[in-house]
Amino acid sequence: MAAAFACDELALKSARYNYPEQFADLDHLMLEIRRMLLNGHYILSEEVRQFEEAFAKYCGSNHARGVNTGTDALVIALRALGILPGDRVITQANTFHATVAAIELAGAIPVLVDAKSDTFLMNVDEAASKVGDRVRAIIPVHLFGKPTPMDEILRLARASQLFVIEDAAQAHGAMIGGQRAGSIGDAGCFSFHPSKNLAAAGDAGAIVTNTETVAEQIDLHRALGQRAQNEHVLAGMNSKLDALQARILSWKLPLLDQWNRSRARVAEWYRAGLAGAPVSFQAQAAGELHVYHLFQIRTPHRDALHRFLRSEAIDAVVRYPSPIHLQPAFQKWGWRAGEFPVAESLARELLCLPIRPDMGQSETEFISGKVHAFFRRAHASATRK
Ligand SMILES: *Cc1c(COP(=O)(O)O)cnc(C)c1O
Repeated sequence: MAAAFACDELALKSARYNYPEQFADLDHLMLEIRRMLLNGHYILSEEVRQFEEAFAKYCGSNHARGVNTGTDALVIALRALGILPGDRVITQANTFHATVAAIELAGAIPVLVDAKSDTFLMNVDEAASKVGDRVRAIIPVHLFGKPTPMDEILRLARASQLFVIEDAAQAHGAMIGGQRAGSIGDAGCFSFHPSKNLAAAGDAGAIVTNTETVAEQIDLHRALGQRAQNEHVLAGMNSKLDALQARILSWKLPLLDQWNRSRARVAEWYRAGLAGAPVSFQAQAAGELHVYHLFQIRTPHRDALHRFLRSEAIDAVVRYPSPIHLQPAFQKWGWRAGEFPVAESLARELLCLPIRPDMGQSETEFISGKVHAFFRRAHASATRK
């Protein structure tokens, strides 16, 4: 089995990450890091500028700006677009906590809509029904690596004068309609958390935009509002991409497309290997490039299957067990159970199987075999009763 890489305490038969595999041929990078440690240019250095230029080009965007995290990318994008305290921002109930926390951290009020049951992406019709007083922006999330159909989002945004901020934290390199995720709206936000498709060796994030004035606002908001030394024009954050992380990201960026292709191949092996099992998948669409940050299977028997796979040393995980509207952090907004039924059902039924670019078909077949075995056993015990 490929994944002999020991993940913390468990000796896993199938792990979710394999960092040594991302750092083949490390000597050159180590020499550069040594040089950077010794030269002392640590903050917004040439390495940061180089990564920003390469990442903007990769995304097909005019500008990229590196920040500390994907969460900060969202907060800074909201502020740079002029979202003010008390403004309302639409996003979906089935996202990672950070999307909604960022809206609150920018002082705005989150407005939730449900997901679509087949794609797990934002229900744009429902979003259209929620535009209104002080709704100023919409944040579609390209969830699990599948790009949101942006033409419907842009149509709604134009009709209702909304800014579009793409949460592309799970979708580096994904494409829809010939464009990269993140490059289509007013701003696109990325995370390079170690779990993501393009991973720093620590926290890191970036914002891409096609608008020069937005890039200039981002420059202020990520650097304490400083226009010139000792001249601060707004109360900004201090959130700049670390130079060492930028160098590591530049080193990995040329490998991203190849890694994403490998992820898509692993997903195809899973779909084939799981044929006949009573599970469903995130729907695929023509004209999209899904980059499979996560590979999700859906079953009402999720919890039992999850326990079974863990007992077989397979690193399956649940993303995310609670939808946004049922999290303690957001009780103040008065959302109720039952309000976003699709998000609730996805929270109960989705299970992520391990997916890594270096996985071979023997590993997906091993895992698919265990999933089939689980359902055979469940069926046998049901017919015995
Ligand atoms: C990871 C993630 C974020 C936040 O990124 P961090 O770098 O961890 O702050 C935001 N949104 C989504 C959808 C994510 O998956």
